[in-house]
Amino acid sequence: MELTGVSLIFASIVVTVLGLVVGSFLNVVIYRLPREGLAVTRPSRSFCPSCHNQIPWYDNIPVLSWIFLRGHCRGCRAPISIRYPLVELLSGLLSFFIFQAEGVSLRYVFYFYFAMCLTAIAFIDLEFMVIPDVLVRPTYLVGLISAVASPHISLPGVNLWGYLQKLGWNETLISLAGAALAFLAGFLSLFLLSMAYKLLKGHRGLGEGDPPLMGLIALFLGLPSILPVLLLSSVLGLLSVVMLVFSGRFPKSGLGLRPIPFGPFLSLAALIWLFWGQRFLLWYLPPHVYG
Ligand SMILES: [Zn+2]
Repeated sequence: MELTGVSLIFASIVVTVLGLVVGSFLNVVIYRLPREGLAVTRPSRSFCPSCHNQIPWYDNIPVLSWIFLRGHCRGCRAPISIRYPLVELLSGLLSFFIFQAEGVSLRYVFYFYFAMCLTAIAFIDLEFMVIPDVLVRPTYLVGLISAVASPHISLPGVNLWGYLQKLGWNETLISLAGAALAFLAGFLSLFLLSMAYKLLKGHRGLGEGDPPLMGLIALFLGLPSILPVLLLSSVLGLLSVVMLVFSGRFPKSGLGLRPIPFGPFLSLAALIWLFWGQRFLLWYLPPHVYG
């Protein structure tokens, strides 16, 4: 459905506010999921991690409350992490831009869910060095449903898909097979890399959660996204290590340097590819390959 004029502006505001509100919920997920004894839905009201007082609704308005309270709890004056308004703002912007790209469509719903999942994973991995299965596994299902509900054949080498069509495969089946193939290739790319590293070095170089996350990213973004996402995330990771080392802020643990999580870089690279990947492929590949 194409929107224009006032209805487009109105819809853009609605999806941005939706993003801000979902971002506020993501903050709860990011805080509670990795912590023992806290359920995402219980307690149902948000509380201050310092004084454990319930936060009234007017102190829980995305971004604005944090600015108004100048980043401190109203009750105990404990500082509130900048992560809170940051996640809310990021979610609002992601919702806005995905809507601009996809319009009123199922693709908006699926990509928005995917982007929110990546955001939660990135911030949890950054702090806790873990990618919760409970975030990744249900999102596999959403990815498969998206391949069925809104078939997209994002593969270069259209000839192969033309060939499958000639064999009588319909669009949905090809889309589903493409998504499953992409998942497998994405998962194996990091799984095999991680195995090879372990064989050579004797210890793990990647987190256990990284191959499933790469599988998830490939499931949503298609086979052609795997190599660019891996390259981009490695470059982003390397750049931030260099920046941390030069600024003297590289996290240390015990004797050595603390390993840095790869999940945030994979997530960031996936989001970049979500917005600019298709354009890059069209520019990079000759039209007869990409069709
Ligand atoms: Zn407090």
